[in-house]
Amino acid sequence: MTANPSTVTGTVDTDAAIPEIVGSLRTTYASGRTRPATWRIEQLRGIERLLAEREDEIADALAEDHGRDAFEAWMTDILSTKLEAAYARKRVRRWMRSRPRPLPLHQMPALGWVQYEPLGVVLVIGAWNGPLTVTLGPLVAAVSAGNCAVVKPSELAPATSRLLARLLPEYLDADAVTVVEGDGHTTQTLLAQGFDHVFFTGGTEIGRKILAGAAPHLTPVTLELGGKSPAIVMRDADLAVTARRIAGTKVLISGQACIAADYVLAERAVRDELVERIVHSLNEFRADETQPGVRIVNERQFDRLAGYLASTEATVALGGGTDRASLTIEPTVLVDPDPGEAVMREEIFGPILPVLAVDSLDEAIAFVNARPKPLAAYVFTRSARTRRRVLSEISSGGAVVNHVTLQYLVPQLPFGGVGNSGMGQFHGRWGFEALSHRKAVLVKPFKPDPRFAYPPYTDRAVKLIRRMYRS
Ligand code: NDP
Repeated sequence: MTANPSTVTGTVDTDAAIPEIVGSLRTTYASGRTRPATWRIEQLRGIERLLAEREDEIADALAEDHGRDAFEAWMTDILSTKLEAAYARKRVRRWMRSRPRPLPLHQMPALGWVQYEPLGVVLVIGAWNGPLTVTLGPLVAAVSAGNCAVVKPSELAPATSRLLARLLPEYLDADAVTVVEGDGHTTQTLLAQGFDHVFFTGGTEIGRKILAGAAPHLTPVTLELGGKSPAIVMRDADLAVTARRIAGTKVLISGQACIAADYVLAERAVRDELVERIVHSLNEFRADETQPGVRIVNERQFDRLAGYLASTEATVALGGGTDRASLTIEPTVLVDPDPGEAVMREEIFGPILPVLAVDSLDEAIAFVNARPKPLAAYVFTRSARTRRRVLSEISSGGAVVNHVTLQYLVPQLPFGGVGNSGMGQFHGRWGFEALSHRKAVLVKPFKPDPRFAYPPYTDRAVKLIRRMYRS
């Protein structure tokens, strides 16, 4: 265990320390100090200050964990978190206000409103790919809603995990936010304590285990999962722009982003030109690089991705090379893999882009709908009709027309999956809502209190009461 009481690292002592940590957060929560707007704003400011003052250390940690350069670290992890924290700080007072509701005539006289209350002590479980943003983003929601929190960063991004454990107690109320470092076992030990909400970011399979671990306590969960997000490219798209935008998601975080375009369905007439342009863009993006490949997080993920390349029967239009010693894989474009291949069955989460030809929009929509609902659906078209059809006929967590991944930077829009890509949403007001309880309040005066409203009911009373509820 570390010296700082608001941080516990994954050691043999962690299991023993966890009940005490959660108990102490419960005591803080019960004291009521996390409820006022001033406390919430202070925490949000703390997160903003941490991001501003410790940008270099964050970049160093991301370089150590993922080999990212400082600008990529800012783009992927710092920017989105900063936007979320600043947006919430400016609006949280307004969000907290009770909302009066109009009432039906049969309840008059009365007043009714929705009153927001915090849930209590929540657990935030981060992932490794954007290890800062997927951990602090949900924490923004948790503190905006006035909750205490245990933060469990991903042990698969150890430098960022250590950094968060060191810095969060410095910038936030250390009696209300505790970092617990550890692996899957630590997560299950935490879940066994019973929380008021669990916010998990990660893959669908572990998502199931989180749900199972939360079930005995009826702990509500938000699951931010992944999936195969398609990019549908129609013949009327601006192909140069489309190619650049799609190619960009395969080099940012080495393609290890939950909202990267997983694969492309291109209209047959433009498929070859699109492939050429994507190849051109990838070559252009990487013209200054000395290594042919981009870095993959660890051996397990590397072996999974290299396995896709070893087993594919697709035409390789670019890349295909792997180097286990440096854990790097060349950005790779695969043309026409068989839809039954592993690379088309599983979420890729790496720098590999399959491009398949389709003969019509109908075929593209049917292809996507035959698979689990994705986290995002992207469509590139100038046609309003095509756009409308994709938006209304494909169910996905979110959708972007003519671009990719930018939805993550918009706190005005809810972010989350549907079906296998997740449950619940966050970002901006949606995160506040997800981690608050909406209490329904009805206030009645003592009078009137007519005798006929109580048993025994006369025939006249029955008629009257029935008529009253018709209004
Ligand atoms: P995983 O789902 O593979 O999670 C790995 C983590 O889960 C490890 O810490 C592992 O610990 C832990 N774990 C293993 N077994 C259990 C268990 N029984 N109970 C609790 N925890 C357990 O996800 P990744 O971290 O690899 O992240 C990749 C996924 O995350 C992708 O699918 C991606 O789409 C998704 N994602 C979603 C985002 C979103 O916002 N929707 C954002 C970012 C990523 P151990 O090491 O001990 O096995």
